[in-house]
Amino acid sequence: MVAYPYETHAYDVVVVGAGGAGLRATLGMVERGLKTACITKVFPTRSHTVAAQGGIAASLGNMGPDHWQWHMYDTVKGSDWLGDMDAMEYLAREAPKAVYELDHYGVPFSRTEDGKIYQRPFGGHTTEFGEGPPVQRTCAAADRTGHAILHTLYGQSVKQKAEFYVEYFAIDLLMGPEGDCRGVMAWNLAQGTLHVFTAKMVVLATGGYGRAYFSATSAHTCTGDGNGMVARQGLPLQDMEFVQFHPTGIYGAGCLITEGARGEGGYLTNSEGERFMERYAPTYKDLASRDVVSRCMTLEIREGRGVGKRKDHIHLNLSHLPPETLHERLPGITESARIFAGVDLTREPIPVLPTVHYNMGGISTNMWGEVLNPTAEDPDRVSPGLMAVGEAGVASVHGANRLGSNSLIDLVVFGRAAAIRTAEIVKPGTPNAEIPEEAIDFALGRFDAIRHAKGNVATAELRQEMQQAMQEDAAVFRDSKSLAQGVGRMTQVAAKLDDLKVSDRGLIWNTDLVETLELTNLMPNALATIVAAEARKESRGAHAHEDFPERDDVNWRKHSLAYVNGTEVRMDYRPVHTEPLTPLDQGGIDPKKIAPKARVY
Ligand SMILES: Cc1cc2nc3c(=O)[nH]c(=O)nc-3n(C[C@H](O)[C@H](O)[C@H](O)COP(=O)(O)OP(=O)(O)OC[C@H]3O[C@@H](n4cnc5c(N)ncnc54)[C@H](O)[C@@H]3O)c2cc1C
Repeated sequence: MVAYPYETHAYDVVVVGAGGAGLRATLGMVERGLKTACITKVFPTRSHTVAAQGGIAASLGNMGPDHWQWHMYDTVKGSDWLGDMDAMEYLAREAPKAVYELDHYGVPFSRTEDGKIYQRPFGGHTTEFGEGPPVQRTCAAADRTGHAILHTLYGQSVKQKAEFYVEYFAIDLLMGPEGDCRGVMAWNLAQGTLHVFTAKMVVLATGGYGRAYFSATSAHTCTGDGNGMVARQGLPLQDMEFVQFHPTGIYGAGCLITEGARGEGGYLTNSEGERFMERYAPTYKDLASRDVVSRCMTLEIREGRGVGKRKDHIHLNLSHLPPETLHERLPGITESARIFAGVDLTREPIPVLPTVHYNMGGISTNMWGEVLNPTAEDPDRVSPGLMAVGEAGVASVHGANRLGSNSLIDLVVFGRAAAIRTAEIVKPGTPNAEIPEEAIDFALGRFDAIRHAKGNVATAELRQEMQQAMQEDAAVFRDSKSLAQGVGRMTQVAAKLDDLKVSDRGLIWNTDLVETLELTNLMPNALATIVAAEARKESRGAHAHEDFPERDDVNWRKHSLAYVNGTEVRMDYRPVHTEPLTPLDQGGIDPKKIAPKARVY
């Protein structure tokens, strides 16, 4: 094997990723006296979290009555009863604390007249355990909430002396002989040098894999790198069949128009000018949850009531809102609509289409972010030294479908939880375990082989093949035929990884190599998604199977686990946690309230 010189760095904790989750974890670690490095392939404030518009959910009750139990119920129902009850309780209970913490760190939240944090309605968030009107629960900094959070957390982390390795690309995990994680191999993109980071805890906060699809609201950097690294170590990816389509991506461009637009009073219409959501979801209408609205839009288009020349999209109307509301609450989307759709919001509707937006699936963890390596006897077995938080991790709070504004809160609640847990199990300043030679050889060997790949297929070509297969065969609606076809297609596409051609052999700013490494990470994500979708013979949350239109709790209320090895995917399952953390007589939620029932909005 080619010998690459590398530099070694020792830390208590290494966090991979500097989005909301990675920064919140990093900040929590340094606050607790742990020597922490944060490695990121893009500058921290360019992480995809910066694009989050609508807001962050917490039952502050600033605009009317609200309770964490109501938030928990909505999250349970949103997840279509696939989320883990302990994690969902933790999320809803800790949310207000986490938001006030952000406030005190300096996030410039929008305010009410009397100076409280302003909150807006969002899809699927209700009062009275889904019996009352929509609740105003989503805290926002205008429509640039992620931007505000990211900049604040980065500033605080720098202040607390976290050490950042910016534009370092993490290639692979470095594992010990017992499957314990001991560090990570990274490539300094600007200098072309290689680096071994050793740590007592590695936290993956690498975000989602939206770019496995052709049309996605997520950044081009959302390539599921952490999921890829985990899959290569023989660890499972959980609930990958659940991919969220956001109802309102701008037609053609794919950029997001936040659900906050409907929260502020916007509504959808078809070619007849009808507010069709009133027909499908009489109570919550345009504020039903995302999977539901996306399916209704798709049905309208299929039945010939789409708008535009090709009748292939839908209109989102905002022109009836007072210009002050647009200016104060939705300035960013006013701009996006103008730039990407050529539309003046005050006069015309925006052309929109359901667009891939969020990955409910990812790395299996418990509610402390500890990565799981389940066995039949112990489905909650922890894989030592490794955590995953944010969109990369599955705690699981979003189950089969995530509610809007529940991701930003997931980032900070579980980023913080990871730090709390790490401080319990890691002693600062103690020596790090030796990294076995084989682990380093594996990482460098893979890197070198890709760098010198001399096959026949260009990276961009293969990526597009993958994106098209996923877009067509793992869409809003799925059926046995399209899924079986998708598995076949994706297996063939994945096999072509062995025939890749990289033309730039350099080590300094080699974007060809970066994109190829990213493709080798996207591929196991895409494969796991289509295979897990083909295997799940029911409809639940974002997985709408036309040949199995009903949810089947008897056979399918279980988490899927996909083990990807090259082009092979082995499926297994683990039970859903059905018990909340706190018993009713100690102030917990009434178990009757969260028992499975039909999901109607
Ligand atoms: C357009 C848009 C709007 C959204 N709006 C909202 C909203 O209003 N409310 C809400 O709750 N949710 C929203 N979401 C969802 C939410 O923003 C994301 O789920 C969340 O920001 C993901 O954060 P993260 O920290 O997990 O990852 P990201 O923010 O994606 O960050 C990933 C980090 O990992 C690093 N990284 C990745 N791979 C590597 C590697 N190989 N080596 C080194 N570093 C690596 C990157 O550099 C980056 O720093 C939105 C999503 C999108 C796309």
